[in-house]
Amino acid sequence: MSEAFPDSSQLQQWHQGIEMANRNNIFCHCRSCSYEWVDSMIDAVCSKCSSKDIEHISCWQFPDD
Ligand SMILES: [Zn+2]
Repeated sequence: MSEAFPDSSQLQQWHQGIEMANRNNIFCHCRSCSYEWVDSMIDAVCSKCSSKDIEHISCWQFPDD
């Protein structure tokens, strides 16, 4: 049964790629100065005012309005 999943390593790479894409597409919005950017860390600090009061939105969760 060694060939049951011949592409398992590729599938794993694909999953890792998706995770990487998610990690690198965290939309950040500073509640203090309204600065907006895209970061890879969920605990990013605002580079404008150094505030940690950041709203995080994954890009696939964008609201419609
Ligand atoms: Zn800020």
